[in-house]
Amino acid sequence: MPRSQPSPQSLVRPLVHGLHAYVPGEQPRIRGLIKLNTNENPYPPSPRVLRATQGAVDGRFRLYPNPTSQALRERLAKLHGCDPSQVLVGNGSDEVLALAVRAFVEPEVGCRKASKATVQYLDPSYSLYPVLAAIHGARTHAVPLGPDFALPAMPSGKRAGRKGWNPEAALSLVTTPNAPSGRGFTNTELETLCRATRGVVVLDEAYVDFARENALALALKYPHVLVFRTFSKAYSLCFQRVGYCVGHPELIEALDRIRDSYNVNGLGQVAALATLDDLPYYRRNFKRVIATRERLTTALTALGFSVVPSQTNFIFVRPPGPPAESWLKSLRDQRILVRWFRTPGLSDRLRITIGSDAEADRLVRVVRQLQRTRPNH
Ligand SMILES: *Cc1c(COP(=O)(O)O)cnc(C)c1O
Repeated sequence: MPRSQPSPQSLVRPLVHGLHAYVPGEQPRIRGLIKLNTNENPYPPSPRVLRATQGAVDGRFRLYPNPTSQALRERLAKLHGCDPSQVLVGNGSDEVLALAVRAFVEPEVGCRKASKATVQYLDPSYSLYPVLAAIHGARTHAVPLGPDFALPAMPSGKRAGRKGWNPEAALSLVTTPNAPSGRGFTNTELETLCRATRGVVVLDEAYVDFARENALALALKYPHVLVFRTFSKAYSLCFQRVGYCVGHPELIEALDRIRDSYNVNGLGQVAALATLDDLPYYRRNFKRVIATRERLTTALTALGFSVVPSQTNFIFVRPPGPPAESWLKSLRDQRILVRWFRTPGLSDRLRITIGSDAEADRLVRVVRQLQRTRPNH
C-alpha cells in the first residue's frame, strides 16, 4: 500500500450515514408465545401449497428461476381480468414499493421542481414509506389523516396548502385499508383522491382481503394508479416473499426495467401459484379472521378499550387505565406480544393482530386478570 487508505467510514455515502433503517416487529423465539405483533396469519398455508413447494425442492435449484415470474403473472392477470403486461411480481410488495420510488421519483439533489422529488403518504401509515424515500434521497410529504383516521380533504383546483394533500407529488402512497389504524376507505373516496392527484398513486392493499371493498378497478381505469397486493398477510406466505402490483402497462414496464433480473425466488413463484390453485381455502380463513376480529372488538370494548372499527387482520386500540407501554410489558410478561409505536400521536395505543379464536380468548382472559389483580400494572 503506497499511501494510507481512507477510513471505511469515509467510503460510505453521507446520505447513507444519515439513514435510519425500517424497524420491523420482533420475531422472538419464546416458547408458547402468542405472537400478535406483525400481522401474520394464524392459519397455515394450504396443504397444496406445502406439497407443491416441497415437491420443488430438487435438482432444479441448480437453475435460475423464471426471470419475469411469467406463469404467476399470467395467473394473476386472469384472476384480475387484465393483461399480463399490467402485472409485476416482486420479492414481497416491499420490493415493488422500493422500485416505485426509484422509477417515479427524482432524487432531490439537482431536481429543480420539488414536487418531482416528492414522496407523499398519509400519517400515520406504513412506516417503510419515509425510509424508502430517504434511501433514494427524495423529499417526503406526510399528510395527516383526519379525526378517526379519515382521509384528508382533497384540494379543489390545482393549488395545495403546504400541509395538505399535494396533487403534484411524483408518488403518493396510500395504505388502504389503512395501517396501523385498520380503518377502511371507500372506493368513492379513493377515486376522489386519485382524480385529485397528477403523480403516480399507489393504493397499497396489503390487507384488502379482510375489507369490504377493493380498489382494483381504479388501477384498471386510471393510467396513473397502481394497486399493490401481497401474499404475505392474507395468504399466509410472509416467509416466501411474494407481492405484486397491477396497473397501466407503461408504469409496469418502467418497474420491470429497473428490477433485478431474478427478483422473485423459485420456491416463492411455486408457492404463490399453488396458492392461487386453492383460493377457497384462503377465503374460509379470511372469514374466520373477520369473525374473530369482530368478537375480539366486542370483548375488548366491553372491557373499556376504545377500538377503531377494523377492515384488516388487526385492531388498533386505546387501552383503559395504565399507559399503552405498560400494557405492552404486562401482556408480554404473560407471553402475549402486541405492537406498540413510540410515536407522537400513536403512543397511547396498541396494534393487535387477529390470531386464532383460542389466542383471542387467551388475550381477553389475560386482560381481565390484569384489570382485576394489577389495575395499575
Ligand atoms: C406487510 C405490508 C407490506 C409488505 O408486504 P410484503 O409483501 O411482505 O413485503 C406492504 N404494505 C403494507 C401496508 C404492509 O402492511
